[in-house]
Amino acid sequence: MANLSLKHIYKVYPNGVKAVNDFTMEIADKEFIVFVGPSGCGKSTTLRMIAGLEDITAGELKIGDLVVNDVEPKDRDIAMVFQNYALYPHMTVFENIAFGLRLRKMPREEINRRVKEAAEILGITEYLGRKPKEMSGGQRQRVSLGRAIVREPKVMLLDEPLSNLDAKLRTQMRSEIAKLHKRLGTTFIYVTHDQIEAMTMGTRIVVMKDGFVQQIDTPKNLYNYPGNKFVAGFIGTPQMNFFEGTLKKVGENVEVVFKYTDAKVIVPYSYFYKTRPSYLNGDTDVIIGLRAENVSLDPEVVAKSNATIKVKISHKEELGNETLIYGDINMEGDGYTESSTRIIIKSISEIEYSAGDIVDAALDLDHVHLFDAATEVSILPRIPEFNYLDCEVQGREIAFLGVKAELPPAIECESGVGELLIPTDAIKLGGEIEAQVVGIEEVLGKKLLSMELGGRRIFAVVDEDVTTPTVNISLDMKKISVLRDGVEIVSPMPETVSFSGKFTKKKVIEDVPETEAERAKRLAKEQKRANVTEETPEEGAPVAEPPVVTKRKKVVKFSLDIENAEFPAPEEIAQKLIAALTIKRVFDKKYRFECTPYDLTIAEQGIEAQLVEILDYGAERFAHCTVGDKAVYVKLDDSIGSLDGIIHLIPEIDKLAIIQADMDIRLV
Ligand code: ADP
Repeated sequence: MANLSLKHIYKVYPNGVKAVNDFTMEIADKEFIVFVGPSGCGKSTTLRMIAGLEDITAGELKIGDLVVNDVEPKDRDIAMVFQNYALYPHMTVFENIAFGLRLRKMPREEINRRVKEAAEILGITEYLGRKPKEMSGGQRQRVSLGRAIVREPKVMLLDEPLSNLDAKLRTQMRSEIAKLHKRLGTTFIYVTHDQIEAMTMGTRIVVMKDGFVQQIDTPKNLYNYPGNKFVAGFIGTPQMNFFEGTLKKVGENVEVVFKYTDAKVIVPYSYFYKTRPSYLNGDTDVIIGLRAENVSLDPEVVAKSNATIKVKISHKEELGNETLIYGDINMEGDGYTESSTRIIIKSISEIEYSAGDIVDAALDLDHVHLFDAATEVSILPRIPEFNYLDCEVQGREIAFLGVKAELPPAIECESGVGELLIPTDAIKLGGEIEAQVVGIEEVLGKKLLSMELGGRRIFAVVDEDVTTPTVNISLDMKKISVLRDGVEIVSPMPETVSFSGKFTKKKVIEDVPETEAERAKRLAKEQKRANVTEETPEEGAPVAEPPVVTKRKKVVKFSLDIENAEFPAPEEIAQKLIAALTIKRVFDKKYRFECTPYDLTIAEQGIEAQLVEILDYGAERFAHCTVGDKAVYVKLDDSIGSLDGIIHLIPEIDKLAIIQADMDIRLV
């Protein structure tokens, strides 16, 4: 039993293929994790890196508390089951299962016990004496599972174990593997390209595409809250309907317009509190997603709905308990071609439709999904990035939602109305503004607090639990933005600072103390030369320690060259950079160093920076400076008084993210 931690894991194959990018995930003990995605997305590569069958290019992999990047596969306490079960044909089932244990020289009784127990769990006890060829595919895959189980591993890795089986057997084995997972109480990581397999088995699913993790969540959350169009389309059958459209805020409503049709529905603006207002201007293209079960042809539902559109029916697919009705919301469309107007509707009614019928369909907009047309990222996220509010600046005050707050000296803004963007992590508990608590929910390990302020819903990501009916809040002013006529007139202070530089290796001659071994050798030699026999010192007499001698030696020094300032590279960091073996020549490549303004201090020497201004946010002060053509921000200690001209910065080396710039790989 074990938990796993994958931090910024990358795989670059020697041929230059970047198969896995920045894979980061914590896997708890006993979880059943499924990696799913189309062929070539990097699932197997990730699994093989966990198994130790493939080197990790960069990043840190822990099994339990141990970093295993350099641990041999056999010492990782994992077992792997493959699609191709490769049993030894000349051995019995018993021998096949016992084989690995015999290699490990396990006592005979223990082998017997483990094989019998595994066979019992898998229901193959009666076949233990048979040869593999006398068994079906499903039974053979059970034997290969048996081989893994008897190892009693901390983690079970399964790479498409069912794809060689026929559909019926696959369904059966699926539930057996899920049962096996419960019974063994071991962490399982399972790779498949089949979303149904993923949805039915995983406690959490990692959806991957082109080497990038798209989303990590429970099956239910992936279905209900896909983070982008790819996940929305990949999870669920039939595939979600996607329509091109635009959104336009008109008073307290939003018009949802479906392109290439006359279809339009009007929805209260409250549906779009989490959406950036620039999407609601009536001409920004969006993608509207609705699942087949969120569209209804039921006349009763249609009669009550205030969001209906016309559908021209084309054909249907009978699935027994339900029918999929195909149609088009463009009256010229054929309902067969997958297009931005084709629609699939799940129907449970008995009503028969004929091809060409034009009917009303009710849209359940409580379950609508919206995506940016270009990036395909959800624009109705579960945790919104910002609260989008109207505001008015008057002198040194900003008014929004019926409250007023003082602007800190760092923010300069002409009076007038505008749009205020408050990030959900910029609302802090404690302060002058009182808000009504609507609810608090746990979303992906974060606490999302919904509040009512001035008749509007606002959201905050908080650390504390909130149980009171009201809360007092304040804003972290360095994170807000103000827009006027779509132009940002107040910008947030950047949260990361970026430098460029190199990783260098130098050989220097230095006086270094001799090693223990060298010292012993020298002392022995000296003793021999002096021809003195060792005397036992008198009791109580101080033992004279022979002096340690230094030697002139060539030593290799690693440094980080950050914006032409040299910092010694700690051993651990140097090792990580050197370990990125597949990236040829780690030295003298371009690196990007990133940290936060809190990880920099002002010193006598270091990175040379030109001070631009001091930003006073009230509770905190920052120095805004430039290094080359880059803007850099540094948190100022209260002890620092006036500053001007050229200053020098020292980063906290342990807090730096080090990114290999050409390939964009985070190495530390
Ligand atoms: P999946 O398991 O999702 O089908 P893989 O992890 O096998 O995907 O592959 C991810 C990418 O890495 C693909 O582009 C594949 O061609 C490439 N790849 C896999 N193995 C190697 C290898 N040994 N050498 C070079 N490229 C590889």
